[in-house]
Amino acid sequence: MKKLLIATNNKGKVKELQELLKDTGFELVTPADINLSLEVEEDGVTYAENASKKALAFAHASGLISLADDSGLEVDALDGAPGLYSARYSPKPGANDADRRAYMLENLRGKPAPWKARFHATIAIAIPNGEVHLVEGNCLGEIIPDERGTGGFGYDPIFLLPYLNKTMAELEMDEKNRLSHRALAVMNAIPVLKKIFLEHRL
Ligand code: IMP
Repeated sequence: MKKLLIATNNKGKVKELQELLKDTGFELVTPADINLSLEVEEDGVTYAENASKKALAFAHASGLISLADDSGLEVDALDGAPGLYSARYSPKPGANDADRRAYMLENLRGKPAPWKARFHATIAIAIPNGEVHLVEGNCLGEIIPDERGTGGFGYDPIFLLPYLNKTMAELEMDEKNRLSHRALAVMNAIPVLKKIFLEHRL
C-alpha cells in the first residue's frame, strides 16, 4: 500500500487533506496514527522553505513519504501581509483564530474597499532520502468586515469569494475542496505523488 504521511498538526488542515486525497489510492497516515509528535519551527523566509522543512522533518522521523503545506493569506491593502506569518498574526499572547481575524480587520479599518486578497498554499512532498518536490495553489477573493459562516478554520469567515457571494466558512467542505488554494495545490500534487510511488516501487 502506498503510505503517505500528512505532515501537519493543524486539525483543520488534516481534515481537508484527508478529504482531498481520499480517492487517490494512497494510504493516508496522520502523525497521531503513528504516535509521532513533532513540532517544526517555521523560520523560513518563503512558503517553499517552510513546507520543505516540515515535510523533510516528518519524512526523516517516520521513514514515510510525507506531504506538508505552508499557506497564508495575502491582503493587498496590507502590502501582502500577513502572508507567511498568517498563523502568528496578532500581538496578543496566546491569540486564537478569532483574535487574528479581529486584528486583521482592525488594520484594514479606514482603508478603501474592496480589500482584495489571496490565499496561497505551497505543498512539499518529501521522500526519506531527502528528495523534495514542490507544487502551489492560489485562491482569489476579498476580506469583508463582518464574519459570515461557521465552517473551515482560520480566516475563512472573513474571506469572500465574490463570484459565489459566499465566504470560505459558508461553503460545504466539498465546495471548499474544489476551489481552495490547498485543493488546487493538492490537484497539482497528485500526479507528482503517483510518479514518486511508481519510481520508488512503493
Ligand atoms: P501554516 O501554513 O501552518 O503556516 O498556517 C497558515 C495560516 O494561514 C493558518 O494558520 C491560517 O491562519 C491561514 N490559513 C491557511 N489556509 C487557510 C484556509 O484554508 N482558511 C483559513 N485560513 C487559512
